[in-house]
Amino acid sequence: MNQQSGYIKIDPSGADARFPSFFQGFNRRWFAGNCKAVYLCFTPAGTTLALDDAINLFGSNVKIKSGGHCYEDFVFNNSTGALIDVTPMAGYGYDEQRGYYLESGGTNWSAFQALFRDYGKVLPAGSCYSVGLGGHICGGGYGLLSRLNGLTVDWLTGVEVVVKDDAANSAYPVYVSADSTDQDLLNLYWSHCGGGGGNFGVITKYYFKNLPNAPKAALITSVAFKWDDLTEQILGELLQWYAEFSAGKDNWRQFGLFALNHRANDEIHLTIQTVVGYDEENETVLEQYITPHLIALKTIMPYRLMTRPGIAHLANLFQSSQHTIVYPFYEAVQVLNGSGPNQRGKYKSAYMRKSFPPDQVAAIYQWLNTVPDGLTLADMSQSLLQVDSYGGQVNMISPTDTAIPQRSSIMKLQYQTYWTDPTDDQLFLQWINGFYQQVYQYTGGTPDPDKDPTNNVDGCYYNYPDIDLNGPDNDKEIALKLYFGANLARLKATKQRWDPNNYFNSSQSI
Ligand SMILES: Cc1cc2nc3c(=O)[nH]c(=O)nc-3n(C[C@H](O)[C@H](O)[C@H](O)COP(=O)(O)OP(=O)(O)OC[C@H]3O[C@@H](n4cnc5c(N)ncnc54)[C@H](O)[C@@H]3O)c2cc1C
Repeated sequence: MNQQSGYIKIDPSGADARFPSFFQGFNRRWFAGNCKAVYLCFTPAGTTLALDDAINLFGSNVKIKSGGHCYEDFVFNNSTGALIDVTPMAGYGYDEQRGYYLESGGTNWSAFQALFRDYGKVLPAGSCYSVGLGGHICGGGYGLLSRLNGLTVDWLTGVEVVVKDDAANSAYPVYVSADSTDQDLLNLYWSHCGGGGGNFGVITKYYFKNLPNAPKAALITSVAFKWDDLTEQILGELLQWYAEFSAGKDNWRQFGLFALNHRANDEIHLTIQTVVGYDEENETVLEQYITPHLIALKTIMPYRLMTRPGIAHLANLFQSSQHTIVYPFYEAVQVLNGSGPNQRGKYKSAYMRKSFPPDQVAAIYQWLNTVPDGLTLADMSQSLLQVDSYGGQVNMISPTDTAIPQRSSIMKLQYQTYWTDPTDDQLFLQWINGFYQQVYQYTGGTPDPDKDPTNNVDGCYYNYPDIDLNGPDNDKEIALKLYFGANLARLKATKQRWDPNNYFNSSQSI
């Protein structure tokens, strides 16, 4: 035990009730069964000592862990020897020179609470409460405010990171920022603007010179369309409407989540969040931004209203309408911040610059109606394609300003399936693979922009990692190209400079 030094090392050889809790993350498929030590890091200085000790003992089998929400086994796997756990560093504050800061062990929820309550500011991050800042921000985290305010990394101006760039010397903390004049330092900063965690060093703090002001309120509108009445043609029309909504130039305050649930759910669900500024009237925004959409949607297909009036408790200030609930902003974030239970899951992603072509609609319709042999309809109730609206302010940034090259997409897709029984793994994996491969058949089975003559698909999102993108020969170069496109070369050069011994590695690390 070495708390004085800024870290505690938990060793399984001693009796410690905490140890088993550190083996596993959010996805129950991933387990670090051979892990021999967990280093709980309390300070940057403690992190350097912990990292040196861990690398000395476990070499390149040391993994960094923040919220533990990685979709693949990059943190928890059979070869993981030690975990550098940054969650004790969950502070925040404001530094006169460097701006607002968030320590990397915080979560989406702790960051939101801190920035909103203490400063009236927000980070356009994801909504799920338990996601860790360690992986989320540097991977290009986005959320319900991203059409209005861009990505987390578009606001990131500095990073404090513990690096180990020489095997013969100790690890050390370095501060890198948008103002760094040395090219190596600047590259390290830039690479943290979307290049993802587990690649260059242990991030201890994120800095933001400025952040967007928090909205006053959020209007939440949710409608459900019944599968029984949903033909392929109607699905195509709904998706066409949604693509136009997502491409809108005057509605960046709105963010859509279209959950194309498997038929096992009976319905697909569309939720739209519309934020209201402090000097605006809720009712005016509601009439202008929501009512016309609901009228248009009804002409495509009748829907069931999921949001209903009657919840508003600050009556005059937050009167809800017939179809939309008006929340004070804090409460809206609370309402939409669920992460769901820890279970087994598999995910895939795609960026899209245009609406869905007919063959994609047909594939989506077919696979959302498919029940694999060996599973029941009810087993598929947690399988879906979630289509998030995107673009807006995200697309105001150049593809090379940050490590995220996808700056012309209007939608971001997330294929998801969840289950609990390990013996069903192959059945669910085959379903999601078959679904994805058919949707992207015309570009070789993945959303590869280099193979798309229609200039529609634009690769994948690193924070939704998918090991299948490595292809049959397990070549991670293929996946990295889909995530980073032309930015990959600069990321590799940064890796070579700052982690030449590849201490920080995974099956899709730079
Ligand atoms: C329920 C759920 C909801 C999600 N919602 C969204 C969303 O709305 N928007 C969105 O953009 N993404 C979302 N994601 C994806 C999420 O952004 C990524 O999974 C993210 O990488 C998780 O970060 P973490 O710290 O929790 O995970 P971890 O598993 O702890 O880490 C993820 C990766 O980052 C590395 N890492 C962690 N901490 C550090 C550090 N301090 N320094 C260096 N490397 C580090 C790890 O080694 C690993 O490679 C969601 C994920 C889940 C499971």
